[in-house]
Amino acid sequence: MAVTALGTHGRPVLDVRALTKVYGEGEAVVRALRGITLTVDTGDYVAIMGSSGSGKSTLMNILGCLDSPSDGHYLLDGVDVSRLSDRQLALVRNRLIGFVFQAFNLIPRTTALANVELPLAYAGVRPAQRRRRAMAALELVGLADRADHQPNQLSGGQQQRVAVARALVTEPALVLADEPTGNLDSRSTDDILTVFDQLNAAGRTIILITHEPEVGARARRLIRLFDGQVRSDTRQDTPAGPGLPGRHSAVPRSGGWA
Ligand code: ADP
Ligand code: MG
Repeated sequence: MAVTALGTHGRPVLDVRALTKVYGEGEAVVRALRGITLTVDTGDYVAIMGSSGSGKSTLMNILGCLDSPSDGHYLLDGVDVSRLSDRQLALVRNRLIGFVFQAFNLIPRTTALANVELPLAYAGVRPAQRRRRAMAALELVGLADRADHQPNQLSGGQQQRVAVARALVTEPALVLADEPTGNLDSRSTDDILTVFDQLNAAGRTIILITHEPEVGARARRLIRLFDGQVRSDTRQDTPAGPGLPGRHSAVPRSGGWA
């Protein structure tokens, strides 16, 4: 399974067909996803919005290989992952997906550097290389000077930037973020969105879930879910998007951090 190369715009990294998810059975059955079909090309930046209960988390869990669909197909980087075992899903997940969560999920009393190194440790990367790549990822999010700080010594926005560095350090095909700015003030929200703009400008594929219209507005593409189905799927101008004058660009155009 090839890890998606940077800059290869246009190839579907994600190809979802007639995906359904049913929870429970009999009287208690819930049809959380009712036939989702969509593709996301390498290099796209997609926001998924929808009211509570519309199926966002269910879809995200399946896209992130944390759960399997009831029916339909899901090809991730060309591989059909809809019928894999839990163990196989875990391997795909570690290899292809970088997660960012609302609650940061950093390990307490552990330095930013060690937090970012962790996925590489799981992947069996040797310590010296681990350190070098983790430092490069921290540099990308503008936190090289905080490498030795522990989570409780960092602001919320800084903690989330560490979490973004951790999501990136394995060079995943896809960054999946579930309400990444949900716990942040507007200034830190803007910092994180600027990092996402820069990552996307450098070729990273990003899918985020949000209920905040101003966060959704920063993505290149907006998908609205309603009652387990795609209600609309639109390309949008990104007024604050990448490449505009005045936005500092810490991210190289090709993958220079690994
Ligand atoms: P959202 O993230 O958009 O709020 P969810 O994907 O969490 O929506 O939920 C979609 C629907 O599926 C809701 O009706 C919810 O109650 C139901 N649901 C979610 N998870 C489960 C579960 N583990 N068991 C039963 N029903 C669930
Ligand atoms: Mg949810």
